[in-house]
Amino acid sequence: MGNAPLSPSKPIDAHVHVVGNGSGDSGCWVRVRGWHRPLAALMLRHIGLPLSAMSGDLETLYISRLLELLRGSSLGAAVILAQDLVYDEQGSPMQNAGSFYVPNDYVLGLAEKHPEFLPAISIHPARPDALEELDRCLARGAVMLKCLPNCQNINCNDRRYTRFWERMAEAKLPLLAHTGGEHTLPVVQPEYADPRVLALPLECGVTVIAAHCGTKSGLFDPEYFHVFAGMTRRFDNLYGDTSAFNVPLRGRHVRKCLESPLVERMVHGSDFPVLVHGHWAWMRGFVGWGAFRKWEKNPNIIERDYQLKVAMGFPAECFTRIRGILRLKTD
Ligand SMILES: [Zn+2]
Repeated sequence: MGNAPLSPSKPIDAHVHVVGNGSGDSGCWVRVRGWHRPLAALMLRHIGLPLSAMSGDLETLYISRLLELLRGSSLGAAVILAQDLVYDEQGSPMQNAGSFYVPNDYVLGLAEKHPEFLPAISIHPARPDALEELDRCLARGAVMLKCLPNCQNINCNDRRYTRFWERMAEAKLPLLAHTGGEHTLPVVQPEYADPRVLALPLECGVTVIAAHCGTKSGLFDPEYFHVFAGMTRRFDNLYGDTSAFNVPLRGRHVRKCLESPLVERMVHGSDFPVLVHGHWAWMRGFVGWGAFRKWEKNPNIIERDYQLKVAMGFPAECFTRIRGILRLKTD
């Protein structure tokens, strides 16, 4: 495992996406359709890349930009996320589903090259080779597993996946699972946005982080924040991340997230390259005018997202807690 020792006090961003178009032989692909197209262009511009990057050397440009932003920020490391294909319940890839793919070997390789990156793999548990792939990635230093039940068609409560969750629990590999609506990627099973879909891995002893704390993304999405909060009382091994809390709707429940005991379950994540704007937090009175003005002007969105969350009142532990959750090599 190539992870250099991380500075123990520096914050970690636990939710950072990497994307690629195969230009650097990564095996990544991206397929943006319809109204997702202008959104993708907006995100590229937001991180300071031209639209032409989509058909050019996206991989080199994206990674060098991400490293530049990370190194210019207060953060010490970022967990970078692989993205598996969409599979049906029988374990066959669903053709034409999914809008991007990031192979495990790509994030594992990036983390070997750059100590700032911690690799989160992605494996659909219905895959016939799911357990072998899990063991292979554990041997290469995976620190977490990421999945999007609603977009990747994963009913985590399916009893056939029990062995997979048990193996993750044995290996102390945490699960970061998307919860709440989703509008950046195509959704296959909207009902799997409900955090209750995570009950089986939790019962198997997997430490689970509900990305976005079950909050809604679109105006007409069901709101699962209270379901998530209720589940933290039942499961000691359930956490929630603050990723995308600086988009219009997701950050609505910040005050509740800052209350004990929920605040002890909060983990910092940006959801890079998702847009970061302080207007919503300022309008809701979560940050003052001065902090909003100061950080909104900062072009480094990794730093902007971090500083806005500090200004919202998230305590320092929320930014380092992930260190005790990830499967990090200690020697
Ligand atoms: Zn995300």
